[in-house]
This record gives sequence, structure tokens and C-alpha cells, in this order.
Amino acid sequence: MTDKPRSHGRKAIAPSLRPRELMSDTPELAGAWTAKVITLFPEVFPGVLGASLTGRALQEGLWQLQTIDLRRFGVGRHRNVDDTPAGGGAGMVLRADVVAAALDEAAIGTPPRRALWPVICLSPRGRPFTQAMARRFSQARGMTLLCGRFEGIDQRVIDHYRIEEVSIGDFILTGGEIAAQALIDATVRLIPRVLGNQASTEEESFSDFLLEHPQYTRPAVWEGREIPGVLLSGHHGEIARWRKAMAERLTKERRPDLWRAYCAKHGRDPEEDQEL
Ligand code: SAH
Repeated sequence: MTDKPRSHGRKAIAPSLRPRELMSDTPELAGAWTAKVITLFPEVFPGVLGASLTGRALQEGLWQLQTIDLRRFGVGRHRNVDDTPAGGGAGMVLRADVVAAALDEAAIGTPPRRALWPVICLSPRGRPFTQAMARRFSQARGMTLLCGRFEGIDQRVIDHYRIEEVSIGDFILTGGEIAAQALIDATVRLIPRVLGNQASTEEESFSDFLLEHPQYTRPAVWEGREIPGVLLSGHHGEIARWRKAMAERLTKERRPDLWRAYCAKHGRDPEEDQEL
């Protein structure tokens, strides 16, 4: 266990090292978007974020990751971080004073304005995570993510620090770490230069309330199934029309909520027939 926040993927270090080996006691890479993660399990970071495009961008210093081990702030000889729920019931709750001490350390060197530096708690009670939130987070200088465990976190610390609660869906995970990695992944890929091809983030699902059209690649015939002919026609106008029509049809069939939002934005009647 270290006594300081650990940072992952600093530019100063040879890019041949793997992200997990890039931890250092000297955080802050000037200017790079930074995720600070408060967790009882710092060893699970960078996790999946160390792979592929997000991993390469981490090594290149396009963003940085710092974990803050909640255990360091525990009380007493056993460094206790949790206690039984007030009012009784099963499980344990993370203590307000312990979490507050970690938040105070995370706040060092970060702007106090939440718009510049969102402070987030992963929670099934939070607002559902969306692409629009990822975009907002990517436009900040960084963010702090607080990972819950057990039955969750004392509500007073969430209220006192004006923490934004975010959920990744209507199911219960064992802890906030997987959810934190999901938020960071979706956010980091919107940072310029992280994805090689920026255009791709503008055409993806949800950019305009639409799910993306289906994708195909070689071989041209597989198990007797052909790629839709229009995609092989070389006719860019028709390909674009086909993709748009497929995106609209899929959205209407699968996600009536998104379809209504899309129709409202584009002045369309949600009941109209989708012809292909
Ligand atoms: N007793 C809580 C669940 C606690 S799960 C309840 O019923 O609401 C333990 C921790 O896992 C939470 O504190 C949170 O940080 C994380 N977690 C669980 N499900 C999540 C979800 N859907 N989205 C984000 N975080 C989640």
C-alpha cells in the first residue's frame, strides 16, 4: 500500500511500460484531463482502461488516472472505513468522516467549480449515465469519482460535498469500480486525439438520439448471408440514405424513448411509417 495517491500512465515514463507499471508518487501531469478515483480497491485500476485506445492515450499523457486508497483514511488500528447502518438492517455503510478525508485530499489542486471538475459518486440511485454526460465530463479539466462498496455511503457526505450521483443502469453491482471505469472510458474517448478518427464519435449511437445503423465487413458472403447490396454499390448518397433509414427504423423499434426525442428535435411525427 502506498501513502500517496498513485498516478497511472505518465508521459515522462517510457511508453513501452504497461499502464499498471507506470504508477508514481508524483501526480499531476500539467494540463491533461485527469480522473481521480477514490476506492477501496486501487489495484483494479487502470483495469480495462489500460487496454487499447484508452491505454495508449494514458501512456501518451493525453489523460491521466490517479487512485486514492480509501483505506488510508480509515479510523483506528484497523483503519475501519465502514460501520453498521443507522436504524439497523443488513450490511455496512462507508463512514462520512472517512470518505470526507479522501475527498479533501482529492480536491487538492482541483478547481472548486463543479462545472470545471465534477465530483461524482457511483450509485444505483443516481441519474442514469448518458452520452451527453460523458461529453460534459470530457469538457471539464478532470473529475473525481467516488466508488461505493457494501450498502453505500453515508448520505451526509454526498449532500455536504454537492456530489453528483450517477448510475450506469438499473441493476446492482458489488462496488462502484466497474461503473467508474465505464464513466471514464466513455469520457476519455471524447478527448481530442484519444480516438485516431474524431469523426467516428460524431456518427455513433446517441449522437443525435439515434441508434447506429448495423455494420458489415468482409467476407461478402458468410454462412449464406450477404452484405446488403447498397453498401457495396459505391454510391455514397444511397449508402448515407440507407444508413439513416436503418438508424431510424432500429431506434423506433427498440427505443421508443429515443425515437420520441429525435422526432421532437427534428419536427417529425413519431407515428409516421418508416419505409425502406
Ligand atoms: N444498497 C445499495 C446498493 C449498494 S451496491 C442500493 O440498494 O442502492 C454497492 C456500491 O456499488 C454502490 O455504493 C455503488 O457505488 C456501486 N454500484 C452498484 N450498482 C451501481 C450502478 N448501477 N451504477 C453505479 N454504481 C453502482
